[in-house]
Amino acid sequence: MDLGIKGKKALVCASSKGLGRGCAESLAEAGVNLVMNARGAEALEAAAAEIRAKYGVTVETVAADVTTEEGRAQLLAVAGQVDILVNNAGGPPPGMWTDWERDDFIAALDANMLAPIALIKALVPHMIDNGWGRVVNITSVSVKAPIAVLGLSNAARAGLTGYVAGTARQIAPKGVVMNNLLPGLHATDRMVNLDTAASQATGKSFDEVRAEKAASIPAGRYGTAAEFGATCAFMCSQFAGYMVGQNILLDGGATNTTM
Ligand code: NAP
Repeated sequence: MDLGIKGKKALVCASSKGLGRGCAESLAEAGVNLVMNARGAEALEAAAAEIRAKYGVTVETVAADVTTEEGRAQLLAVAGQVDILVNNAGGPPPGMWTDWERDDFIAALDANMLAPIALIKALVPHMIDNGWGRVVNITSVSVKAPIAVLGLSNAARAGLTGYVAGTARQIAPKGVVMNNLLPGLHATDRMVNLDTAASQATGKSFDEVRAEKAASIPAGRYGTAAEFGATCAFMCSQFAGYMVGQNILLDGGATNTTM
């Protein structure tokens, strides 16, 4: 399917691995030129080289921490103006509600709320000038249904979701479409870390933890980065122009809600 975005330029944050990488791949497959980002240069360069070779698009790289002002300044200096922004960063660590102090919340807000807002503010004005743009914010299923051990994520992402809900409606009349994409359980490095922590906390083996969690999902399995990326690319496509301020849940049916 031609998504109608060949030749556009996208900044995909936190994209050397996992869900961000899935988004970068699917956008590249649609003919979109990329600016990719991660902190670690080695994995980032390897991912960029693979994508260039496979899809023939231009891929620029910026090894920087997107959650810091300096990192974002580096990103914006290389990216310049873009047509598509995919906001992403690592998620906060798990814990108990008693663990978290002010500094922990500030770090989570910086990473998962204020960093995407800063990039929206920096890049959407040019999209408005062009009369066309797409923003996808990778958030989490925790926005719809809290994950108790991820209290920092629940809090910071709910804040971003509130901001996006209003802002998406302010920029929609200018041709800029902004939505959130909410991952449930996906088989990425982060999920290996979380499942390892669960295995250590419960004394169950890693495989047991995985099997139990997969069995709790109606689809019977974890999602893949490729499936996630394909949905992201659709949300960045010409066909998503009437999808405004939505929270698209990709969780294999795990969240038991009617709407
Ligand atoms: P992942 O497999 O650990 O990949 C994270 C990617 O982001 C890597 O490329 C990493 O590279 C980069 N990154 C992390 N922190 C960064 C930073 N501060 N600045 C720039 N790049 C950064 O994680 P994932 O599973 O794809 O998760 C992506 C997001 O979705 C996270 O916020 C996570 O909480 C959320 N999420 C994931 C799931 C899931 O099932 N996987 C479910 C719900 C929510 P470097 O380490 O080299 O920077």
